[in-house]
Amino acid sequence: MESTLTARDRVGVQDFVLLENYTSEAAFIENLRRRFGEKLIYTYIGSVLVSVNPYKDLEIYSKAHMERYRGVSFYEISPHIYAVSDNTYRAMRTERRDQCILISGESGAGKTEASKKILQYYATTCPVTDHMSTIRDRLLQSNPVLEAFGNAKTLRNDNSSRFGKYMDVQFDFRGAPIGGHILNYLLEKSRVVHQNHGERNFHIFYQLLEGGEQDQLSKLGLERNAQKYHYLVKGCCPRVSSINDKNDWKTVRKALTVIGFHEEEVEDLLNIIASVLHLGNTQFGEGEDGETQITTEPQLTYLSKLLGVDGAALREALTHKKLTAKGEEMISPLSFEQAVAARDALAKAVYGRAFTWLVAKINQSLAFKGSSSVIGLLDIYGFEVFQHNSFEQFCINYCNEKLQQLFIKLTLKSEQEEYEAEGITWEPVKYFDNKIICDLVEEKHKGFISILDEECLRPGEPSDISFLEKLEDTLGGHAHFVTHKLANGKTRKAVGREEFRLIHYAGEVNYTVNGELANQSVNSITAGSVSEEPVPVACIETRRLIVAATQFKNSLAKLIEILMSKEPSYVRCIKPNEAKQSGRFDEALVRHQVKYLGLMENLRVRRAGFAYRRRYEAFLQRYKSLCPGTWPNWQGRLADGVATLVQHLGYKPEEYKLGKTKIFIRFPKTLFTTEDALEAR
Ligand code: ADP
Ligand code: MG
Repeated sequence: MESTLTARDRVGVQDFVLLENYTSEAAFIENLRRRFGEKLIYTYIGSVLVSVNPYKDLEIYSKAHMERYRGVSFYEISPHIYAVSDNTYRAMRTERRDQCILISGESGAGKTEASKKILQYYATTCPVTDHMSTIRDRLLQSNPVLEAFGNAKTLRNDNSSRFGKYMDVQFDFRGAPIGGHILNYLLEKSRVVHQNHGERNFHIFYQLLEGGEQDQLSKLGLERNAQKYHYLVKGCCPRVSSINDKNDWKTVRKALTVIGFHEEEVEDLLNIIASVLHLGNTQFGEGEDGETQITTEPQLTYLSKLLGVDGAALREALTHKKLTAKGEEMISPLSFEQAVAARDALAKAVYGRAFTWLVAKINQSLAFKGSSSVIGLLDIYGFEVFQHNSFEQFCINYCNEKLQQLFIKLTLKSEQEEYEAEGITWEPVKYFDNKIICDLVEEKHKGFISILDEECLRPGEPSDISFLEKLEDTLGGHAHFVTHKLANGKTRKAVGREEFRLIHYAGEVNYTVNGELANQSVNSITAGSVSEEPVPVACIETRRLIVAATQFKNSLAKLIEILMSKEPSYVRCIKPNEAKQSGRFDEALVRHQVKYLGLMENLRVRRAGFAYRRRYEAFLQRYKSLCPGTWPNWQGRLADGVATLVQHLGYKPEEYKLGKTKIFIRFPKTLFTTEDALEAR
C-alpha cells in the first residue's frame, strides 16, 4: 500500500493541497495522470475525494480492505471510497449529526458504482441483527430493481442511470442500518419512445423479453424478440455484449421478492411494461373521411386489457383531443402526427408513473419509524453539454449550478468554522459566487422558469419564438444570458435563432427552445383526455398540469434543504476516456471534467489559508524522532511538544500556526522538507 507522503515523486501527491503549484491546472492533471498510471484512482482535495474510473476491477474492494479503513483517520492511509464511507459513518456516530455524501461527475464517471461501494461498505461493516439483515438486504437489492427500470445502455455508459437518486440510509443507536428512503429525480422518459443510434431503451424491457417465462410472455401478448418492438429498436442495438439480459432478469425477479413485492404487484408492473411495448406498435392510418384512426386492432385489445381501460375510450384518447375554450369543452380530431405524439406521450406517462410507483413501493419496504441517524447518498448527473441541449440538459445543469453553490458555501463555511474552532484568524477567500446564475433561472416573476411557466399557461398555442422573445425582453442585458439577437454587435457566434445561451459557472451552453413548449402541451392533452377514465394501475391521475420546470425547481429546492441540514462529504468522479477502456487517460477529456466539476476552484478555496493541518498527537507521533527534545516521548502538553519540534526543525513563523488541537502548515514545501528529513534518517 502507498505510504503517506514519501512516495510522492512516482505516484504524485495523494492530496492535491500538497501540490506546490496548486493554481496550475496542468500540475493538477499531471498528478491525476501519474496516479492513474499506478492504478491509484483515488486522490483527495482536503476531505473531497476525486476518483478516476479504472474501467476494470481493481483488487481494492475486498472485505480485508474494508477492515483496513475501519476507524482509521483520513490521512494515515491511502485515499479510498471506504475512507470517505468510514469517516462519514464515524462522524454520524460521534458527532450525532446527519451526514450526506454527494457524488457527482459526468455519465460513465463511476458515480453509481461509488454509491454502491459505499452501501456495500455499510452493509458489511456495520453491526446487524437477524431482523436488520432483512433491511440490509432490501437496501442492497433496491439497486438492481431501480437500475432495471431506470438505467439504460447509452453511448457513454452501458449501464447509465437515467434518473437522479438521493437515498437516505437510516441507522439506529447501535449504528446498525435499519431503514432507508429514496427520492428520484428527472427520469429520462423520452427514452421510452426514442433512443439515439447505439443506445437502448431501459434495461427492463429487454430483460423481460429475454428472461420472462414463455406463458408469462403469452399472457402479456409479447413475443420473445426485441426486434419486433418499435420502441426497442430505434437505436439499432437490442443486444449489448457487456450485458446479459437473461441473467439480469433473474436477479431483478429475485430482488423484487426480497424487497417484498407481491405476485400481483409484479404482474401489475409487467402489465405496464408490456403495454408500453404495445403502444409502441400501435399504428395510425387515414379513415374514409380522412380522419386519423388506429390501424392495429390487436394492440388496442391488449392495451385495454393490460391497462384496464375501456377500449373505445382509449381509441378516443389516442385520436382526439379535448380543448377547453372560454369554459366550454370541445373535442377535436388529431392529425396523424398529433396522434403519434399523443401515443408517445401516453407511453412516457405510463412508464413514468410505474417508476414513481416502484420507488414508492421500495420506500414502503424500507420504511422505519423511530429515531435514527442518517447518511444520505446523492448520485446525480453532472454538468451536461451536447451538440443539442434541450429541456432535460437545462434541468440537469441548473441542478449542478445549485449543487455548486451549496458546495462552495459549505466548503467555505467548514473551513471558517475550523479556523474559528482552532482560534486561528480567518482570512477571507475570493471566489466566484454563482448565485447570479441560479437567480437568473429561478427568481420569481423574472427568472427563466417563471417565464416558461407563464408562457405554457397562457391561453392559445404556445410558441417557441414568442417564448424566446419574452426571455429576451426580461433577461436581455443579463451578463449570463445571450441570444442570437442580443449577441448582435457583440459578434458572438454560434447562437442559433431558436436557441439561447446560458453562461454557467462551468462554461457556456446553448439550449434550444425548439419543441419545448409543444412537448409540454402534448403531455397535458394526453393526461387530460385519458384521465376521464378510471385507470386503475396508478398510472395516470387527474390533475392540472404543473409545468415540469416548476415542479423540478420545487423538488430541487427541497433536495437542497435536505442536504443543507446535513454535514456533507464529496466524491467527484472523472471519466478517463470515452472508449470505456482501462488504462487510457485522455488529458483533454479529463481537463474538461476538472473544469466542470469546479475542482480548481475547490482546491483554491481549500488552499487559501493552509495547505496542511494535522492533530498534534498525530504530528508528534510521526516526526518526534527528528528532535532530541521530543524523542522518544514528549511528556508535557501536546502543543508545547509540537512547538519544540518545529522550532528545532527551523520552521519560520509565517510558515505555520498552532491552533488549539492542530498544527496548520501554510506551504507543502515545509512539510516535504520534514518528510525528506524523516526518510534520510
Ligand atoms: P455513472 O453512474 O457515473 O454514469 P457508473 O458508476 O455506472 O457511471 O460506471 C460506469 C462503468 O464504469 C461501470 O459499469 C463499470 O464498468 C465501470 N466502473 C465505474 N467505477 C468503477 C470502479 N471503481 N472500478 C471498476 N469499474 C468501475
Ligand atoms: Mg449512474
